[in-house]
Amino acid sequence: MKIVMLGAPGAGKGTQAKMLSEKYGIPHISTGDIFRMNIKNNTELGKKAKGYMDAGQLVPDELVVDLVVDRIKAKDCMQGFILDGFPRTIPQAEALDYALNNQNEKIDYAINVDVPDEHIVERMSGRRACSDCGATYHVVTIPSKKEGICDVCGGTLVLREDDKPETVKKRLEVYHEQTKPLIDYYNKKENLLKVDGTQGIQVVFEEITKVLG
Ligand code: ADP
Ligand code: ADP
Ligand code: ZN
Repeated sequence: MKIVMLGAPGAGKGTQAKMLSEKYGIPHISTGDIFRMNIKNNTELGKKAKGYMDAGQLVPDELVVDLVVDRIKAKDCMQGFILDGFPRTIPQAEALDYALNNQNEKIDYAINVDVPDEHIVERMSGRRACSDCGATYHVVTIPSKKEGICDVCGGTLVLREDDKPETVKKRLEVYHEQTKPLIDYYNKKENLLKVDGTQGIQVVFEEITKVLG
């Protein structure tokens, strides 16, 4: 099963993608996580991506497309994958379709986790991410057992630099301009699944898996 997660920053794409990855035994591929790992390891790619990410802008298509197209050719993607944070522009979606087409494959579901803008700042200012393993929490809705400490690995939980309200506003603008048109793109291909992302995590998950099987 090949899945693409759509939705505003903070809509809950990553949270659902991790749960779906476990249920269906297919890898969760988050381009944001890949970039953050590269920044942490101070790689060439990380150095190139950092400025854009800190400013709340998208990293240029040419820095992300080949990376994803290569990644989904890996052996662990034979049974499918869940893309989280990619595609984010129409050219990225076209490049993905082109690469899949060449192998007689296609995206089975594009899942739009729908959360209105007015909820987003609240979601993002409460998000805490583990600086070691990337696990995600929310100070109100999904707190860790011990404040500031990751349940999974004991690492330190931090507020992402780009989750501060000024940057979130910019990211939302970018979302509306460049990423939201993808909803229409996948709707035309008739593989769009829309869920109300303001519901509880488990309810959202059940609505998705009811359709996916
Ligand atoms: P969120 O989880 O809030 O949606 P991500 O972790 O997916 O955010 O992405 C963080 C940042 O990484 C984005 O604001 C953007 O700068 C960059 N990024 C991630 N994926 C892409 C992509 N497919 N194209 C361009 N930039 C990307
Ligand atoms: P995205 O990957 O779309 O940027 P995340 O999955 O990281 O979003 O979720 C953003 C924040 O909202 C996190 O702090 C997460 O714990 C929290 N969250 C995710 N889904 C829900 C939900 N259905 N209800 C309340 N909070 C949620
Ligand atoms: Zn951790």
